[in-house]
Amino acid sequence: MKILVPVKRAIDYNVKVRVKADNSAVDLTNAKMSINPFCEIAVEEAVRLKEKGVATEVVVVSIGDKSCQEQIRTALALGADRGLQIDTTESLDSLQVAKLLAKVVEEESPELVILGKQAIDSDNNQTGQMLAALCGMPQGTFASEVSIADGKVSVTREVDGGLQTVQLSLPAVVTTDLRLNEPRYATLPNIMKAKRKPMAVKAAADYGVELASNVEIIKVEPPAQRSGGVKVADVAELVEKLKTEAKVI
Ligand code: AMP
Repeated sequence: MKILVPVKRAIDYNVKVRVKADNSAVDLTNAKMSINPFCEIAVEEAVRLKEKGVATEVVVVSIGDKSCQEQIRTALALGADRGLQIDTTESLDSLQVAKLLAKVVEEESPELVILGKQAIDSDNNQTGQMLAALCGMPQGTFASEVSIADGKVSVTREVDGGLQTVQLSLPAVVTTDLRLNEPRYATLPNIMKAKRKPMAVKAAADYGVELASNVEIIKVEPPAQRSGGVKVADVAELVEKLKTEAKVI
């Protein structure tokens, strides 16, 4: 079974995000970039399925400029077998990404596509669902457990009321939630080995997908500064302030 894992290069989750002075975007100058954490969980799950003998090949794909090859190499060091960079300098939204991934699905015919549930830069949470719709494949989103048997994949999903388990026929799309697994660290020998693993580069323009975005970002603003706290003398004063100032009770 071949598993395709789309990974996105995103600002590292430990970085304190700065907004550009003109409020047009997040300032990425000198910011540490990493694999989007949910994509790292997707890579880990695919590699575990390979280690269990369920999968035979794990292919990682990233759409972006040359710099996303760094994230593909990291995924290769974590155990993926081969990489594909779809080269573009356009800033794409989820639909364009899903359309490009649908073309890769057509070319590669994976039996399972595992994506992150969302990219932590744009927080869209759309690509997996759009990809499933474009490819006519069943989807199991927000997976906290995945198991495969008899040509079917069971996905336990984290939903508001608790856990829901769905069974999908293959090929299928799964998106990962935080509790699916804890990704391993890449060891130095595996980082060295990853340098020799194959990575193809293809131009996004060659896929015949309209790359112009339909989404315009109007403004990006940092969250409002928190005002300082106050000390209250007793519970009565606290309740009074919650009623009259915070107006939450
Ligand atoms: P989003 O819908 O943008 O929140 O992203 C959800 C998931 O789609 C990510 O976790 C990735 O698995 C995949 N994805 C989004 N953008 C890209 C990209 N540029 N390259 C590869 N995969 C992507």
